[in-house]
Amino acid sequence: MKTLQVNIVTPDGPVLEAEANMVIATTEAGEIGVLPGHVAMVAPLQIGALRVQIDNETKLIAVHGGFIEVRPDVVTVLAASAEKAETIDLARAKIAEKRAKAILEVEKNAKELALAELELKRAINRIRVGEGNF
Ligand code: ATP
Repeated sequence: MKTLQVNIVTPDGPVLEAEANMVIATTEAGEIGVLPGHVAMVAPLQIGALRVQIDNETKLIAVHGGFIEVRPDVVTVLAASAEKAETIDLARAKIAEKRAKAILEVEKNAKELALAELELKRAINRIRVGEGNF
């Protein structure tokens, strides 16, 4: 069976390097499924889960923005942060969720509100991916 080389890279280093059968990602324009031989493209990603199918197993990776670049046999994801489900610290994500919600309740500054919205989205994403709710 044909495979795709999948590389997920962040400023902290590589998060995943694997040969996969399929990748499902949530771009700003919606969900895309990438199989080997896919047409080349680049798309911005939403905060969401990347699903990487390796043999009969689907690996979930929390991805926080960034880009996906697809070539027929390589998928590269560049993101500010990304974590495999099994490396997510759920307690930390729940603290981050509470902190963001507390800021959203009292903050008036538009920029601070926007930052807190993003922090909340990252925290909720980590909790969902860490708990396998995708
Ligand atoms: P926090 O407020 O908990 O730091 P954050 O959303 O501000 O969360 P980021 O700036 O997205 O964190 O990431 C900073 C670094 O910490 C990255 O390397 C990211 O992978 C890691 N990270 C953040 N939260 C978690 C978590 N809950 N579990 C594992 N790694 C995490």
